[in-house]
Amino acid sequence: MSLEPLKERIGAINDLLTTVNLLVWDSRTMMPAGGAAARGRQVATLTRLARDLACDDDMMRRLEVAERDVAVAGVPEIDRAAVRQVRGAVDAHRRIPAELVERRARLQASATQSWIDARARDDFASFEPLLAETIVLARALADALGWSEHPYDALVNLYEPGETLASLRALFGELRPELKRILAGAQARPPARDVLSGDFPPAEQLALSARLAAAIGYDFKHGRIDPTVHPFEISFTRDDVRITTRFKPNHVAQSIFGTLHEAGHGLYEQNVDPSFTRSIFATDLLGLYAVGGTSYGAHESQSRLFENHVGRSAAFWRRRYPDLVTAFPVFASVPLEAFLAAITRVSPGLIRTDADEVTYDFHVMVRVEIEAALLDGSLAARDLPEVWREQVRANLGLEVPNDREGCLQDAHWAAGLVGSFCTYTIGNIMAAQLFETACASSPQIRTALEEGDVGPLSSWLRESVWRHGRRFHRNDLLAQATGSTLKLAPYLRHLSQRYLDPAR
Ligand code: ZN
Repeated sequence: MSLEPLKERIGAINDLLTTVNLLVWDSRTMMPAGGAAARGRQVATLTRLARDLACDDDMMRRLEVAERDVAVAGVPEIDRAAVRQVRGAVDAHRRIPAELVERRARLQASATQSWIDARARDDFASFEPLLAETIVLARALADALGWSEHPYDALVNLYEPGETLASLRALFGELRPELKRILAGAQARPPARDVLSGDFPPAEQLALSARLAAAIGYDFKHGRIDPTVHPFEISFTRDDVRITTRFKPNHVAQSIFGTLHEAGHGLYEQNVDPSFTRSIFATDLLGLYAVGGTSYGAHESQSRLFENHVGRSAAFWRRRYPDLVTAFPVFASVPLEAFLAAITRVSPGLIRTDADEVTYDFHVMVRVEIEAALLDGSLAARDLPEVWREQVRANLGLEVPNDREGCLQDAHWAAGLVGSFCTYTIGNIMAAQLFETACASSPQIRTALEEGDVGPLSSWLRESVWRHGRRFHRNDLLAQATGSTLKLAPYLRHLSQRYLDPAR
């Protein structure tokens, strides 16, 4: 069959990209600091080879043969979809000048180092020229890919196909006032006692993290968990999907919820249909990244679902609290209710990654508007700190005391990721939509969750989301699973129920 040459090529690209993932995993868990320069070269070389394989003349011939092959009657829709996806990615690649790819790769390495130094010294001025250049190249990428209303649209399409600046502004316009209302209500609750601070040795935190990941179904026969600085999940095909976590020795929550989050990502990857291994449905051919989830937001929906909907629920902890007490006997004298109040405490803060469920999206909305303004030139890089302060004041009611806790806090822009922040909020909204539908679809899911059993929920997610990998567009996946494309109401119901209902 003449689809084979194309499939074979995608398989080879996937092999290169999963190998890049392995090198990245190593560099963020095991590698000594001195290995960074050599590792950067290795990753750059393999990524360049993957890109060459994705758009060289031989690839074009294989693609044309495959297109003729699927054009005849009787070919399964899944094969047509595969070929369409390859065509979209290949055409996009061929619009991006090779010189721009090189410049972006080179800049990313120096900008990341400059950002690390600038953040450590709270010295935005030293990072500003590299940020300015990053934006110039991001704009060049947007122009090469093509856009009609706003350059942001071309970049968001890399991470969350289907969204545009206009669609996000409409969504945020609905979300912002509702979040402000929920935040005001949550802050009117009696303050939670701080029962999460204490002395928690990392070894015990790691053991507890592993137990909790296993409790939600993360498969250690095809995975492992290791400590890192900025936690992530990464896969080398569905057969080897790794997660990472981090610990604060004096606070227990970060490792618990960070682990549930990454294990949620891991569940998605471990449960992609085995027949999609090494295929376009497990390969982001445009982003040159081996991943099974259909969009960044869809991926984030699974991590947030297990972190927040499952992981911060009373039902989960009624069953798992003994694990916590075994790991840290100090919790024997802490009532479950006090623990639950502490893990659902709401308090606006400066740092996105530390934000609670109610204030998290404000951080995202701030970044999306700033990215759009940087890209269209209405904001210059040098004015970023001031605009950041204004935005944080307007959205969170806080004063930003320095740039380290302000515009220098995230690694994304230095890494060349412009247009990806919105996917965190898309993930939050999508998580609630999927969770609400799952619970409504079968009373057994809710009953099992009340007993601490995520099995029936996982079966629903496997069937509706995980197994499909990247086969469907996010909105098609949502429509099939929930009967509707992205919808805000379930998310607002979830937050209102948890943070406004006094009988919680
Ligand atoms: Zn995540």
